[in-house]
Amino acid sequence: MDRLLGSPDGVDLARVHGRKPLKDALGRALAAVRSRQMPAAAGELLRHARLDLEARSRMWVAPVLNGTGVVLHTNLGRAPLAPEARRAMYEAARYASVEMDLDTGTRGSRQARCATLVTEITDADSALVTNNNAAAVALAVNELAAGRRVLVSRGELVEIGGSFRIPDVIRAAGAELGEVGTTNRTRLADYAEAVDGNVAMILRIHPSNYRVKGFASRPTLSELVALGRDRGIPVVHDVGSGLIAGEYLPGFPHEPSVVDSLRAGADLVTWSGDKLMGGPQAGIVAGRTDLVARLGKNHLLRGLRPDKTTLAALEATLNLYRDPDRVTERVPALRMLSETAEQLEARAAAHLPELPPDTGAVVTVERTRALPGGGSFPGHEIESAGWAVRGIPPSALAEACRRGTPPLVARVSGEALFVDARTLGEQIGEAAAALRAAVVSLP
Ligand SMILES: *Cc1c(COP(=O)(O)O)cnc(C)c1O
Repeated sequence: MDRLLGSPDGVDLARVHGRKPLKDALGRALAAVRSRQMPAAAGELLRHARLDLEARSRMWVAPVLNGTGVVLHTNLGRAPLAPEARRAMYEAARYASVEMDLDTGTRGSRQARCATLVTEITDADSALVTNNNAAAVALAVNELAAGRRVLVSRGELVEIGGSFRIPDVIRAAGAELGEVGTTNRTRLADYAEAVDGNVAMILRIHPSNYRVKGFASRPTLSELVALGRDRGIPVVHDVGSGLIAGEYLPGFPHEPSVVDSLRAGADLVTWSGDKLMGGPQAGIVAGRTDLVARLGKNHLLRGLRPDKTTLAALEATLNLYRDPDRVTERVPALRMLSETAEQLEARAAAHLPELPPDTGAVVTVERTRALPGGGSFPGHEIESAGWAVRGIPPSALAEACRRGTPPLVARVSGEALFVDARTLGEQIGEAAAALRAAVVSLP
C-alpha cells in the first residue's frame, strides 16, 4: 500500500481525490484482486483505483440533455426552470433575505412574497407554500380533518408516482377515509348520504395520470361546492398538475386549472410547483383566508416548508406569470409543450449532427410522438419531431449517450434511437454535439 501511495501515479491521484479516498479505493482494488486470486500489478491496481475514484466523485444529480420527448420527466427532475428562476436559486444559495424585511430590518415571513404572487396570478384570497403537493394535501387533511373523516370518491383513490397514495396520505395525516360511490360512477347523492357529523372535509382529486372512459361520471366541482356550503364542510381540490389557467396551453385537452377550480368555489386548491406551472419542486395551497391561516399555524408546516433556494426559484417563476401575455413563451415547460411539430422539425434540421460515414450511423429528421408527462394529460400525445439514428445498435448508442459529458437521454424504439427536439429546447446544439460524440465513441 505504501509503495502504491508513494508512486508517481499514487501521488497524483491523492492530490486530486485526497489521500484517504485513494487509500480506500486501493484497498477495494486489492480486495478484488485477492478474491479472484489474481496477481496484483501496481499499474493495474492504480488504474482500478482511478476509475473507482472517478465514478464515486461524479455527481449523481447532474445536468442532462432531455431527448426523451417527455416534457415533465419525473426521473429527470420534472419541469426545467426558466433562466430567471435558475439564477435566483443560485444567488439565494448564499445568504439571502428569507426571513428578513430589508425595509425595516425586522423579521418577515418566508412565505409572504410567494403567497402574494400566487393570489395575484390566480385571484385566490390567500395562499401558502409547502415542500411539495403531497405535503400540501397532508397539511390540509391534518389541519381540517384530523381525528375525523374525509370523503373521497372511489374513482379518485389514486396513486401518483409510486409513493403518493391518497388513502395512505389521509391516514398518515391522522384522518379517516370515507369512500364514496364506485370506481366508475359517483353521484352527488352518494356524497350527500355519506355526510354526517364526523365528516370534516370533501377531498376532490384530479386523477391526473389516467382516464376512466366509458360508463363513468362524477359530480361537477360546483355541485360539490354547493353541497359543502350547504352542510358547512370545506371542499379541497387537489388539481395536482398545476396548470394555472387553461389559456396558457391553447389547443390541449381539458385539464382542470387552478383558476377554474377557485372560480368554481373550491375552499382550497392544491398543486405541484414543478409540473405544468413550470417551477421548482413545491406544493401550493390557495383559497379561503381563514383556512389558509389555519394551515399556516399547523405545527406540521415546520417540517414541510420549502428552503430558501426553492422559494427564490418559485418567486422568480411566479413573477413571470404577472405578465400573462408572455407566460407560455417564458416558462420553459409551457413553451416546450406549445411548440409545433413544424417548428421542431425545422430546428432539428438546422442542427442535424454530422455523423462520420465510416461509423455506419445514419441520422434523419423524423416526426415523433412526445408526451406531457408528470401525470398531466394522460393518454395525450403531442405530434413532435427530432432525430432518428439508424445503422448502429440503438441500445448501445443510448448507453453511450447517457455516459457522455453532458449526458444525453434518448429513446430506443425498434431499430432506431430517437432524440426528440421538443425537450431539448435551446440546448439542441449541445445535443447534436453529444450525439455525434456518442456515435464516434462506439467501437
Ligand atoms: C403529482 C400529484 C401529486 C403529488 O405531488 P408532488 O408535488 O409530487 O408531491 C398529488 N396529487 C396529484 C393529483 C398529482 O397529480
